[in-house]
Amino acid sequence: MNRAYKYRIYPNKEQEQLLSSTFGSCRFVYNQILALLAANYKAGIKHLSRFDANKYVNNTLKKEYPFLKEVDKFALTNAVYALENGYQKFFKKQGRYPRFKKKHRAKRSYTTNFTNGNIVVEETYMKLPKLKKRKASVHRRAPEKWKLKSAAISQERDGSYYCSILYEFEHDPAYKLAYRGKRLVKVDPWFPRSQICSCCGALHKLSLADRIYRCGCGAVMDRDYNAAVNIRDEGLRLLRECA
Ligand SMILES: [Zn+2]
Repeated sequence: MNRAYKYRIYPNKEQEQLLSSTFGSCRFVYNQILALLAANYKAGIKHLSRFDANKYVNNTLKKEYPFLKEVDKFALTNAVYALENGYQKFFKKQGRYPRFKKKHRAKRSYTTNFTNGNIVVEETYMKLPKLKKRKASVHRRAPEKWKLKSAAISQERDGSYYCSILYEFEHDPAYKLAYRGKRLVKVDPWFPRSQICSCCGALHKLSLADRIYRCGCGAVMDRDYNAAVNIRDEGLRLLRECA
């Protein structure tokens, strides 16, 4: 489960320059790889995997164009991967052939990945790879337990900058329920859910073949239904115990 929070950021002049150069470098790498893949495609050469395309950026393009080494490396990798997504859609006939990004029409944005604390979100500032601290208005922060996954930095047409932080929830089911205002109660797996009569509480041994639960109190129930009622009641009992 993913959730994103979008914050306005206020880069200084120097940071604005680096952002501008990152947007440009992503577009440049995207177009360079597209030119290569399109030439391969025309010549009937096997399509490069996203990993090989990324390797080409690191081993060839960065040597030829040293300015690419100055920007966030994740931004460039993500630009290559976005192009590859476009190709996959095209191959599955879900989209048209990827097109070159034009300088003045392309969206000014890039995506970076979280690793080893390289992205920090505090109340008055944010830290992003290569850009160090930047003033930001963080109106609300994500709960501690959310895992930061990536950040998308963009510049709007009016010149303002935004950073959208993508979080992933813990895979803990209790956490997902808590988010919806619910609670998870764990019932002991050895709790004899199939053997208790959910009407009177008496205990009877059942064999696996017995599909119907019959009790001296007169209750006759489907085995699974009886077990489900017992689990619900045990869960409620444990919840009352906690309260
Ligand atoms: Zn009974």
